[in-house]
Amino acid sequence: MRPEILNPLFVPITGLRGIGPRYSKLVERLAGAKVVDLLWHLPVDIIDRRFTPKVMAAPVGAIATLTVTVEAHLRPANPRQPYRVRCRDETGFLHLVFFHVKGDYLERLLPVGALRVVSGRIEHFNNQVQITHPDHIVAPEELDRMRPIEPVYRLTAGLSLRILQKAVDAALARAPELPEWLDPAFLARQGWSSWRTALIAAHAPENAADLLPEAPTRQRLAFDELLANQLAIAVVRAHQKRLPGRALASAGKLRRKVVAALPFDLTGAQQRALAEIVADMAAPSRMLRLLQGDVGSGKTVVALLAMLDAVEAGTQAALMAPTELLARQHYATLSKLGAAAEVEIALLTGREKGRARGEILARLAAGDTGIIVGTHALLEEGVAFKDLALAIIDEQHRFGVEQRVELAAKGRDVDILVMTATPIPRTLMLTAYGDLDASRLDEKPAGRRPVTTRTIPAERFDEVVEAVRRALGAGAKIYWICPLVEESEESDLAAATERFAQLKSLFGARVGLVHGRMKGAERDRVMAGFAAGAIDLLVATTVVEVGVDVPDATVMVIEHAERFGLAQLHQLRGRIGRGDKPSACLLLYTPPLGETAKARLTILRQTEDGFRIAEEDLRLRGAGEVLGTRQSGLPALRLADLAAHAELLQIAREDARLVLTRDPELESPRGRALRTLLYLFERDQAVRTMRSG
Ligand code: ADP
Ligand code: MG
Repeated sequence: MRPEILNPLFVPITGLRGIGPRYSKLVERLAGAKVVDLLWHLPVDIIDRRFTPKVMAAPVGAIATLTVTVEAHLRPANPRQPYRVRCRDETGFLHLVFFHVKGDYLERLLPVGALRVVSGRIEHFNNQVQITHPDHIVAPEELDRMRPIEPVYRLTAGLSLRILQKAVDAALARAPELPEWLDPAFLARQGWSSWRTALIAAHAPENAADLLPEAPTRQRLAFDELLANQLAIAVVRAHQKRLPGRALASAGKLRRKVVAALPFDLTGAQQRALAEIVADMAAPSRMLRLLQGDVGSGKTVVALLAMLDAVEAGTQAALMAPTELLARQHYATLSKLGAAAEVEIALLTGREKGRARGEILARLAAGDTGIIVGTHALLEEGVAFKDLALAIIDEQHRFGVEQRVELAAKGRDVDILVMTATPIPRTLMLTAYGDLDASRLDEKPAGRRPVTTRTIPAERFDEVVEAVRRALGAGAKIYWICPLVEESEESDLAAATERFAQLKSLFGARVGLVHGRMKGAERDRVMAGFAAGAIDLLVATTVVEVGVDVPDATVMVIEHAERFGLAQLHQLRGRIGRGDKPSACLLLYTPPLGETAKARLTILRQTEDGFRIAEEDLRLRGAGEVLGTRQSGLPALRLADLAAHAELLQIAREDARLVLTRDPELESPRGRALRTLLYLFERDQAVRTMRSG
């Protein structure tokens, strides 16, 4: 149960004063639905109202706060003209200008003869000094209603700063003083204040430096978040490590048979990764390992060999892929390369239906099938194993953590291997998985040639067409990628279809088209045509992004490369350069390029190293997007900035480990406070895990 002290923060924002249903929807879209979400919505800028010049000395464009006497209301004859209120101080006149004035509220706000403090941006118009719609108008005795330095927040259409400020203030008023969860010596060394003090200060920045990630208040809050994150992960990991696993007894005979029959030698990296995985499987604890490697680095082979060990031990293995296309391709690869082992391999996707599906399920349940490859279809209720012991999940970031758990729940004490072609930078890895065991395939299979990458402005389209014509003439296989990102899916699709028609008219019959809206069978037919040679030029939307393997494709044209993310471009490019012939990637872009887009394309020209690209991607995009946090169900960080707070992350990680060694159940006074921290950052699951285990 959440500690009671936090309850005021975990109620809907609709309960806050001044936030009616209209505004609460907007605030919810902006920050979140709970009061606590508003606390994490930190200012991005400040407005300094401490500049208090006389009217005649107020410079145009400045935010100024002036004390003036109201002289006259100049109500316009025509309601489309602005309403003006003439004020003055001893140096001259100041006009306050209002549009769309209804009723007499201005007469009450600005009574003639009264002294008022007004604040806003100074304008000059027709030789007059004026402020249009002042931000503040207060009587001198109410001056405390105006902050000398005002925080500025990210807003959304329809929500004014004033309303949001009110909501944040109301939320802050509910923030209780919480028991200190940080180590006192560490706290003192950092010179940080208590959580509540830091929070209030973070919402009341006094200068630009207070807004930076290095500001002490920001650091404190970021550290709290990172500590909650690391503690939660550590708790779950510790729990997992204590779970009984199975020591899968295999002599590796099947695996060796297959290796001997492979048409290539395993790379050193593949051998190392395999050794790590096999050792985990043989150990009595439960495996949770990540296999990272660029597209084409040979993960599937490693997966196959690991699965053969599970089969040899008398159990079953499953490989789950995010798309049908990939599942089919894995199935084809496993069937071909694994033939020497004479193990029954099955495929299950949404397309296997009726009798065929029934047959597959029956053989799986009976244990005849040793290895099954499939999509989400594997998670369906009717799918039962005789004895699943190894689950491999490909392209992890496309699946949620729950799906990984669901698959594992189909067996007993299942070992889990997660494969990803998006190398995850170390900082992200830590916040997303903690000390998840990881194997890296950082070596390309022998004989692969580097890909030459060029960037070309779209106006030189004709040159690209000529280059493609030459390449086709020399017998090349070519991918032509059209983006599916902006606008509507329909119009993007229309663009791809149109390009297909154009290229077909230019190059003749051997041009194909694949896109996400196609039926599975049709798409497979086209892909198979491309792989087998009936199609030389394949126009595709990003459906080819993941996994597709046509080793003798050597050219890729990517249209509107500036619209793609770095990791995505890298993934796409990974489709070529898989064979022993030189390959080329042409990145077409539409100028002018923004800074980030330019940086992305430059990095791609410079390197093919997925790990370096991942680090750059993190730098350019920020953490949430790199991992696809939203889809993956991984917790997003709201206060910490992994690029700026990497050092704090390390400290948080050490601290979490230390705490759990000393106080595994979090029962000491500091442990209890840390439980509150976990709840504050909604890591409730971690506390429940601790209870149950
Ligand atoms: P990934 O899944 O990492 O993208 P795959 O396992 O699909 O990569 O391998 C890509 C291609 O490289 C496949 O055709 C595979 O047969 C081949 N391959 C895998 N390992 C090696 C190796 N050590 N040497 C040569 N080719 C390999
Ligand atoms: Mg793969």
